[in-house]
Amino acid sequence: MAEPPKREPAERRAFVIGCPIDHSRSPIIHGFWLKKYNLNGSYEKVHVDPESLGHFLATAIEAGFVGGNITIPHKENANHFVAERDDIATTLGAINTVWISENRLIGSNTDGYGFLANLDDQSPGWDHLSRKKRGALVVGAGGASRAIIFGLAQRGFDPIIIANRTFEKAEHLVKKFGRSCHAMRLDQLPEVSASVSMIVNTTSLGMEATTSDEFPIDFSQVAADAIVHDIVYTPLTTPFLAAAKERGLTTIDGLGMLLHQAVPGFEKWFGIRPDVTKELRQILLRDLGELENE
Ligand code: NAP
Repeated sequence: MAEPPKREPAERRAFVIGCPIDHSRSPIIHGFWLKKYNLNGSYEKVHVDPESLGHFLATAIEAGFVGGNITIPHKENANHFVAERDDIATTLGAINTVWISENRLIGSNTDGYGFLANLDDQSPGWDHLSRKKRGALVVGAGGASRAIIFGLAQRGFDPIIIANRTFEKAEHLVKKFGRSCHAMRLDQLPEVSASVSMIVNTTSLGMEATTSDEFPIDFSQVAADAIVHDIVYTPLTTPFLAAAKERGLTTIDGLGMLLHQAVPGFEKWFGIRPDVTKELRQILLRDLGELENE
């Protein structure tokens, strides 16, 4: 009897939704891994405006998706349209990754994982700084800051000072994350920057085409062993990082966090835990027009 024809496993389709979505670099990351691991899958950008978010997520399973990423401005709203959230998504109140379990959409947030995994990768042992008890300074109190505050608290940083232009938003996060956090105004940055081990910019200040505003931060006062991290990655070296570099401080750019936050989603959708490699980083840098600066 003739052998039945071999069947290819069905294509697994994942998405990234946002509004706008054109700028997203995530398809480059997942496309690289799909090719590298020779998988029958796809990862597509879908423009979804806020009014269509509920419909898109409610019909994602029947549309044939195995899950996807959620980006600006949907991360908080997506909370209302998943069947279940994991602990971290519940704590942060925002979702950036969904997958299917038992025909239900499950939401998580991998930004904090990406932040910590990148630091562990690029600066192994960095969290020994928490034992110096000087604490960390997080500039910004928007959506992304929550994952950073949570990650720093997990690694023992205490106190965590949250400085934001809109003071009330910093105060709100202090209430949310508890005793070890303190709220501060941006003009108080010079008072605290000298006393912390870690400074993270989570604002969009420094991002291309946003604003020419600058932080009132004087890196000459910052401890020589402190780490300065900007989660913005366009440009790779923001004015904030450039000033810290000039002072000779250890600096970390935002691209590594972007690469590492993609790992858990890819594993959920396609069944392989992918590696963040130098080759992948180089591809992203080329796309960002940053290769000559590395
Ligand atoms: P968001 O929720 O809109 O928050 C924006 C933050 O920036 C707020 O704290 C806001 O202060 C502050 N800000 C904006 N313009 C400012 C100005 N002129 N002066 C002072 N503060 C200003 O945005 P988000 O989702 O948190 O994202 C923030 C940045 O992180 C974006 O650039 C995003 O691309 C980047 N990001 C990177 C990664 C990564 O993987 N590397 C992941 C997530 C986000 P107010 O509260 O006063 O408005």
